[in-house]
Amino acid sequence: MATGKKYKILFVTSEVVPFVKTGGLADVSSALPQKLLELGHQIRIVVPKYGAIDERKYKIHEVVRLKDLTTQIGDKEVTFSLRSSFLVGTRARVQIYFLDNPEYFSRRHSLYADPMTGEDFKDNDERFILLSKSVFELIRKLGWVPDVIHVNDWQTALIPAYLKTEFKDEPMFENVKTLFTIHNVMMQGVFPKSSFDKTRLPAELNSPTKGIIHKGKVNFLKAGIMFADKINTVSPTFAKEICKDEHTSAGLHKDICKRKNDLSGIINGIDVQIWNPEKDKMIAKKYTLKKLDDKKANKKALAEKYGFEASDETPVIGMITRLSDAKGFDLFKKAFKELMKLDVKIVLLGTGERKHYKFIEDSAAKFSDKFFPYIGFDDELAHLIEAGADMFLMPSHYEPCGLNQMYSLAYGTVPIVRATGGLADTVKKFVEKTVEGTGFVFKQYTVDDLMKEVKRAVKIYTKSPDLWKKIMKQGMKENFSWMNSAKNYVNLYKQVVS
Ligand code: ADP
Repeated sequence: MATGKKYKILFVTSEVVPFVKTGGLADVSSALPQKLLELGHQIRIVVPKYGAIDERKYKIHEVVRLKDLTTQIGDKEVTFSLRSSFLVGTRARVQIYFLDNPEYFSRRHSLYADPMTGEDFKDNDERFILLSKSVFELIRKLGWVPDVIHVNDWQTALIPAYLKTEFKDEPMFENVKTLFTIHNVMMQGVFPKSSFDKTRLPAELNSPTKGIIHKGKVNFLKAGIMFADKINTVSPTFAKEICKDEHTSAGLHKDICKRKNDLSGIINGIDVQIWNPEKDKMIAKKYTLKKLDDKKANKKALAEKYGFEASDETPVIGMITRLSDAKGFDLFKKAFKELMKLDVKIVLLGTGERKHYKFIEDSAAKFSDKFFPYIGFDDELAHLIEAGADMFLMPSHYEPCGLNQMYSLAYGTVPIVRATGGLADTVKKFVEKTVEGTGFVFKQYTVDDLMKEVKRAVKIYTKSPDLWKKIMKQGMKENFSWMNSAKNYVNLYKQVVS
């Protein structure tokens, strides 16, 4: 167990694996608390009990003193309960509280939107005001006072505002601090101005300069930005980007920038039990840094799957991606002709915007010996691509953290990435002079820049196999485990508390 001060952390989130998941937040909300517990910290989680969560399966039970609590949402008095269970991990058993209220949560299967219409629930403001306020009742009733309330994304972003206003004079909360993690800056919890009264926050917060109004609307994410003691996002470079750029921050860059001294970035970890060539059951042959030649069996299996012949001389470039401009798919399309002039095979797995499908189908017909796409979502195939490809292309326009480049490094599948967000922080540009680096990195979002790095990679691959092996190994030695990230979070809690 690690030494150093131990913290009490209350982790508030709107989704947690294995209970419910719509995005990466759910993975973080599961992995990080488990590692914090392993490191000796006290950690408890709060999450809503949606209808999709199976009470019996997860042994969610009643806690007498957390039953029939009340709070105000606007003029409404709302009754809720907090029920209890554990998040069962490999070694750690994290206490988790489920916010139970039939009207807002348990009677609805889905998390944020009506599955019939695809539209956000009209009362999402009330639902997540309730989540935010329930946390204070929980602390009061338990008498378990955290050092830090760690809140995540817009759904929990009102908590820092409540702590600094409604609860600021309550002795119990005097030393409680908040950390606000932005996983998704695009989703901000935007509601009409009339929602402000439902929050019951003091009137001075009903303002664009001192409060939570942005572009004439109530903006929950902004509450976290304005009132949390510290803010972080999922990579250091993305932290800088959302402070500078209107587009990347979805309009909140000015407010974020005012907090730049309290803003930092921590890369998410990867699940090294699942994404690990030594243990991966979904690939054709397991391999390690020392038995790198075994990787070739995966290249062969991948080629068979896509219907081409693998050869040592011709590199396979893998791509697993949402087909969207944010992921750089428009740039890939622009560079496609140039790419097809190279002696490479490109294997693509993806789903996403329909506007790209026709291009993919036409191109696959035209370059049937070089371009092998599969439109669909297939976890097993994703593993085989990571294991079987020689290179992995991620030309993202934006990338808060990114996972696939870290998987690629772990699998000795050399990444070619654009230097943005988490890609810039995880892939080190290979420099031939010093023989240092783990991948190929280009700066500008242009065909020229992309092609320069792809060509450099292909050249080293074909002309200097020993050097290529060295790059592979350097990548495989990198450590992107959750334990690493958790230690960075502990450092951040230390700053929050002081
Ligand atoms: P983002 O969350 O922006 O889509 P990330 O790289 O952070 O990108 O994570 C995407 C995750 O989803 C990765 O684990 C990746 O392997 C997986 N993934 C994306 N598309 C597919 C697909 N079509 N089939 C299987 N897995 C996919």
